[in-house]
Amino acid sequence: MRNHFDTSIPPNSNPQKLLKRIYKQWRPDYVKQCIPARHEIKCMNNVCACRTPEIQRGYRDLLPNGKYGKKKYHRCGSRACPKCHIIQKNKSVKDKMAKWPHCSYSLLTLTVPQQLYVLFRYNPKVMYGLLKKSFADAVKEFADECFGGLPVFWPVIHSWNNNMTLHPHLHAALSNGGWRDGEWIEPKNPYWFPYDKVLERTKELFLKALLKDRPYLYHPYKDQSEVYQLIQKHIKQGKKGGWNLDYSPYGSETKTVTDEHGNDKEVTDHTANLEKLLRYLTRDCLAAHRITNIDSTHVTIEYTKRRSNQVITERIRGIQYIERYMLHQLPKGVPRSTPYHLLHSSKKAELKKAKKLFDKQRQESGTFIDHWFEQSEQVVQEHQEQSDKTIGGYGNKPHKPTRIFFQNIRPRKSHFTYGRASPDIPNVK
Ligand SMILES: [Zn+2]
Repeated sequence: MRNHFDTSIPPNSNPQKLLKRIYKQWRPDYVKQCIPARHEIKCMNNVCACRTPEIQRGYRDLLPNGKYGKKKYHRCGSRACPKCHIIQKNKSVKDKMAKWPHCSYSLLTLTVPQQLYVLFRYNPKVMYGLLKKSFADAVKEFADECFGGLPVFWPVIHSWNNNMTLHPHLHAALSNGGWRDGEWIEPKNPYWFPYDKVLERTKELFLKALLKDRPYLYHPYKDQSEVYQLIQKHIKQGKKGGWNLDYSPYGSETKTVTDEHGNDKEVTDHTANLEKLLRYLTRDCLAAHRITNIDSTHVTIEYTKRRSNQVITERIRGIQYIERYMLHQLPKGVPRSTPYHLLHSSKKAELKKAKKLFDKQRQESGTFIDHWFEQSEQVVQEHQEQSDKTIGGYGNKPHKPTRIFFQNIRPRKSHFTYGRASPDIPNVK
């Protein structure tokens, strides 16, 4: 028997539409069987309501004929919504590109043992918070030892695997160098990062912080004393226990520059590399290209196993898919990323100076003609000319169409008023 859901979908289609379709099909069953948390219900509601009359707020544009066009609804703005996440991601990458120094960066990956996954799942605020803090402190200690400057450090929580099962780990961007007394100090050795020592120190600080404050940690099958035994046992373990820290200088993008003699040569393009790194760190757990089919009962996903490079096709129940997706939705109050060291809000002036220094270096590097810089200037000029032509009296300000905003307020249920009889019945004394 076929129903209207029985159509195969092409790969690389819109992730929001895919997710919305999955939610509409299996949300009622999921709510009944799995009893989701409040933030999970909110996340499903947001995705389904995004840019639909359900959101109740929107606007209408003024058309050239003097009439108002169709109603357009606002987006939900939730980080769990793929469409809104892409908009937020582009904005945050643009912001960071404008603020961070364009130097060389490394990508760090910190993995935790499988026995602690449950604690990360049920206590995300405490566990991720302390892990990020101890990781940042350990990195700072060794940066002080190696070059003594304040580096850029930005850890981000990623909790998924290729097949969307739970795999909590931290990815972090770390600058190869740091700011000290108005100068940018770079380590002599490009592979300066002592990852084994940093991992040991991170574990030490993490365990100390967990045992010092003794926060209440929830475990579905264990009581508090057993939880602390589990923590002590698995944090002290070595590399074979599941702890791992990967480190590599990030990016292979190059650009061509011409020197004073007119010879072209290839140099590392730090700007392109930084943008690539930021896009990797801010990506979402939902990869739409991995969903190959949705039928009336199951979702089919396709992914490659990391070590063997083997392509695996898995057909899972719709509810199970939602369950896996919900593992990666963090509740309110748990930030996915935290800025440390040079990115800290108290170091704004230093960060600005570092950014300026690298911009100056790029422009004044000998008598180089930077092709990228030339091209970007050309594009800006063309854009300005175009906008001047299209907008007569507005100057360089972007033209915004006239809009009328509206807000539909749901009619409240009429309440019965106590203490007064209906107007039809006279009050009896
Ligand atoms: Zn949305």
